[in-house]
Amino acid sequence: MNPISASEALARLKAGNEKYVHEQYDKPIRLQDIAELDEKGQHPFATVLTCSDSRVPPELIFDCGLGEIFTIRTAGNVVSDYEIGSAEYAAEHLGTRLILVMGHSHCGAVASTVEEHGGVHGYLAHILREIEPSVDEARHEGLSGDALVRLAEDLNVRHTVKRLRENEVLRELPELLILGAKYDTHTGKVAFFE
Ligand SMILES: [Zn+2]
Repeated sequence: MNPISASEALARLKAGNEKYVHEQYDKPIRLQDIAELDEKGQHPFATVLTCSDSRVPPELIFDCGLGEIFTIRTAGNVVSDYEIGSAEYAAEHLGTRLILVMGHSHCGAVASTVEEHGGVHGYLAHILREIEPSVDEARHEGLSGDALVRLAEDLNVRHTVKRLRENEVLRELPELLILGAKYDTHTGKVAFFE
């Protein structure tokens, strides 16, 4: 089993983000590492579930190299069967003890949910429908404009965290920590939720 505890994994992510915001990313890709990982198999120390936004690559944000984090990405960091199944796989079979759900500022998926009012078609509509309750909750707080989007982004992270915590397989793993966070697309900093 994976020897990295949730608290140690969290400390590593925090330290990695510190390096990132200080322009000290230092994980060059070497062919030797690729081959070594192939032989040894993967032992990622954490799972990061985040938005597909091209400005939010978790490996870079946390100064991680190959094989270090198991990533799951969807527009708006929403989850359904396949994403939850992927999180189960990482926790049960790869032994990651931390699942970090990371939203971000200026999330297009959340902004679209605020603006579209159901005018979206195709599979994208499924994503917006998943974000909709968070937007509704933010509206009930009396917010509008940027403040509304910002709160909806936070609530949407908490919604995904809740869905994962309610999962039957994940909640049976006592050492597993499922935590929310938000990446600031302007400063590069990650704020970890309580
Ligand atoms: Zn996004």
